[in-house]
Amino acid sequence: MDIKALDTAYVAGTYKRFPVEIVSGKGSVVWDENGKEYIDLGSGIAVTSFGVADEAWQQAVVAQIGKVQHMSNLYYTEPCALLAQQLCERTGMKKVFFGNSGAEANECAIKTARKYSEDRYGAGRFTIATLKNSFHGRTITTLAATGQDHYHELFQPLTPGFIHLEAENIPALEAAAAQGNLAAVMIECVQGEGGVVPLSREYAEVVGRICRENDILLIVDEVQTGNGRSGSLYAYMEYGLKPDIVSTAKGLAGGLPLGATLFGEKTQNVLKYGDHGSTFGGNPVCCAAALSVLNRLDDALLASVREKSRYLFQTFTGAKGVQAVSGLGLMIGIKTAAPAAQVVQKCMERGVLCLTAKDRVRLLPALNIPMDTLKKAVEIILSVCAGEAD
Ligand SMILES: *Cc1c(COP(=O)(O)O)cnc(C)c1O
Repeated sequence: MDIKALDTAYVAGTYKRFPVEIVSGKGSVVWDENGKEYIDLGSGIAVTSFGVADEAWQQAVVAQIGKVQHMSNLYYTEPCALLAQQLCERTGMKKVFFGNSGAEANECAIKTARKYSEDRYGAGRFTIATLKNSFHGRTITTLAATGQDHYHELFQPLTPGFIHLEAENIPALEAAAAQGNLAAVMIECVQGEGGVVPLSREYAEVVGRICRENDILLIVDEVQTGNGRSGSLYAYMEYGLKPDIVSTAKGLAGGLPLGATLFGEKTQNVLKYGDHGSTFGGNPVCCAAALSVLNRLDDALLASVREKSRYLFQTFTGAKGVQAVSGLGLMIGIKTAAPAAQVVQKCMERGVLCLTAKDRVRLLPALNIPMDTLKKAVEIILSVCAGEAD
């Protein structure tokens, strides 16, 4: 059976896949259909927080599957309540809405911001400012939020009510706030899809202050940066921000689909009975998986993420064929002299899976990747960057 041919014949052609079928894995190592081994530095795009087929994660998932896999939000289930409690207690946020993906977590954030503003200020104050080069999802509304024109062109008309500000441009932000029609500003602390570009602390601080002073809600999109990836539980903590809404997904459940929208003091009671919902949202298996992930994101684990991050920055900075290194925690962008896609291709041939983001090679390893495995992968990437013979 030729899986690649079947997939090409029957799966909608929205993805450019590498010519590799992944059959199984363990931790940060995966195997393809020919038994070739790869070190995985992509984690399914920041999803498999503790790697592939991790024991503790598997046990949590299997235990919950053996009890009840789904009941809908018409009934209470323990994992959903415990997860919401843990998310609130560890962030200081007040309430959580569960969905299934990053785009849905952002949709919920956007709906909440609009309702908050409508409730307080009446119609017309609905604009949401996001940043140029941002990425917030693929639904028609989160595409409108996404500050990259090339995603917009084919799908007009998009949801109205979004403006895109240049990051780091404080006068532009002040001018937008002065219009009086902003309901919210939505930011990623580190633009992931946009090329692993962190916001400066100064700009983030100004965004926080302008939002606070004008009762504009601060929404932080932690879909990629969240759940330990940044070296803190959430990246906004690294920046000392106090968001009104936090959206997250990707790594939250370590490989099962789960999104969460967290509400702070001001926004906790905005969504009322009937205002929003999701059939799968808060699914007990996904929530049990997320609990097992969060339970392991303790101080020691987060310190090890920061330590591995320092190692990656130090090792790649100034290396041959490397022009710049950016990122936060285990979210690393490497600007290479050779085209990023070509570097990723060669790394794959040599048994290391990396990603790209814009013109950069992007590394999103599992948070618990063993140091020796990481070093082995880094040696290969360094040699590819340096243009050394295969
Ligand atoms: C991946 C991503 C999204 C979209 O998440 P999906 O689960 O693919 O809908 C939204 N925002 C950011 C910052 C992301 O990285």
